[in-house]
Formats: sequence, structure tokens, C-alpha cells
Amino acid sequence: MRIDLHTHSRASDGTDTPAELVHAALRAGLDVLAITDHDTADGWGEAAAAARETGLMLVPGMEISTRHRGRGVHLLAYLPDPTYPPLAAELRKVLDGRAARVPTMVARLNGLGIDITADDVRRASAGAVASGRPHIADALVTLGVVRDRTEAFDRYLGWGRPAHVDRYAAPLETVIRAVAGAGGVSVIAHPWGRGGLGRPEEATLAELQAVGLTGIEVDHQDHDVAARARLRAMARDLGLVATGSSDYHGAGKTDHDLGCNTTDPAEFERLLALAAEASARSGRSTPQVSSHCDDHRPA
Ligand SMILES: [Zn+2]
Ligand SMILES: [Zn+2]
Repeated sequence: MRIDLHTHSRASDGTDTPAELVHAALRAGLDVLAITDHDTADGWGEAAAAARETGLMLVPGMEISTRHRGRGVHLLAYLPDPTYPPLAAELRKVLDGRAARVPTMVARLNGLGIDITADDVRRASAGAVASGRPHIADALVTLGVVRDRTEAFDRYLGWGRPAHVDRYAAPLETVIRAVAGAGGVSVIAHPWGRGGLGRPEEATLAELQAVGLTGIEVDHQDHDVAARARLRAMARDLGLVATGSSDYHGAGKTDHDLGCNTTDPAEFERLLALAAEASARSGRSTPQVSSHCDDHRPA
């Protein structure tokens, strides 16, 4: 059983449509795929429709941009009701903030002598819920300013680079509570990598667990062997679920092929059991894990 719990489609900054993502997962020999676009459930319906009638189990999820002690932290949320008002409100604020900074970043690039327009970015983000930095990066690639997204971030768009502009991110603890209230479970994405917790101490994870955190992503390309061992030990000590995943973005990110890291089936079972408990506690109508997952569980 091959399980990949962190992937992106064109609903955020991947390059596959949600349906193409499902077919790519089948070709990669996956049995379970989570679609986890940034701050949106927009790809769920199309992915579920594509997964129906196939052997693929689809897990609806998202990767939420949060902030914790001054750092940007990515939080994976699985199986929440995205219409739960406290969660929906945070997602709206994040998406609005992301779109709002694009014109400012374009103006900064113009100030650096780069001839890029808002239309170039709009063309690069066709199909996405909100334009963001990866789309500016793609536009820069199309314009021949940089070779790829990595160079665009390293030279212009990343934290501390000349065209970078800060934006809203929800407090991590607020989002963990909102995901639980929405009947879902939350997992810190790549805690040791970029957009992670910055080599968290066990005490930090324990605090987040007390608020409702369910797990941490252990096997991820941003983590070397030592980081994985350390994170796995902390997950075991605390009873957090340990996941593994590709963080696939289609052609948008190299060395993140589908299934390059996977989640242990026993850990996945625990995650599903905890999600079922969270769903029951919340009283929300949460999405189902299955190849028929665009219907909702009966209340
Ligand atoms: Zn991330
Ligand atoms: Zn991701």
C-alpha cells in the first residue's frame, strides 16, 4: 500500500489539473493520494470525480499558511469541513493577502528594471484560486528572466530578497483549533525544512499537540536522514502521527516525484481514526475518504 499525503494541483501552485494529478498518482502506482493545495479546497471536486471508478483512495486536504513566533509555518489539514466559518474566514484572509501582494511585488520587480506586468502573472496563474509568488516566478521564467522557480525565489521573491513583500498568515494555534472545530486533523508540513518550525524542540510540538495538533510530516525531501530520525523519535515519544509525502507540484518543483516519500499504512490508519473522532466531535459534515469522496457523510 503506497500512500502519498501531500501534493499540489493547479488549484494552487502545481502544474497538473486536479484530474491530471489523480491520473499521475495512478501511473506512479499510488493507492492513496491526498490533494493538499495551498489554502483552498477548490481542487477537491474535480479530483474526486477523476478518482471515482478508479482504485485510488483520495484524501481531501489542504496546506494552510500560518505563522508561529515570527516564522511562516505550513500546516496540512486533512478532512476538515472547509465551510466551517472560523476556518473559512482564515482561508479567505490568507488568499486575499496573497493576491493583494502580487501588484506590489510586480512594482518592485519593475523598480529592479524587470519588464513584467500584472497580465503576465495572470496568464501564469490560469486555473488557480489566487495568484501568488509561484505564478510570478513562472511569469519570470516565461519572460526569460530566470531559468526556473528556484532561481526566481533565490534572486527575487524569497524571504529577504528585493521583490519580497510580506502578507497575512493566520496564527498557527488558531488554525489548529479551527481545523479541529471543522472536524479535521492537522499535521505540520516539513517541520525541519523551509516553511517549517525551524528544528522544533519536543516541548514546542507538545504545546501544539495540547492545542490539537495530530501529527508531523517526517519523510519529506527537505529532511536529511538525521532530521527524519530526530522527528520520528519525537513523534513516537509524543504519540503524534508521523507522515511521509512527496510535496509534488508537477513540473513546478523538481525532485518531488509522486511517491518519493510515503506514509506507513499503520500511521495512515491512525490518522483516519483520529479524523473520524474529530468529525464526530465537531458535528460538522466532513468530506469522506474514498473514491466517492465528494459526497458527504450522513450527519
Ligand atoms: Zn509547504
Ligand atoms: Zn506543499
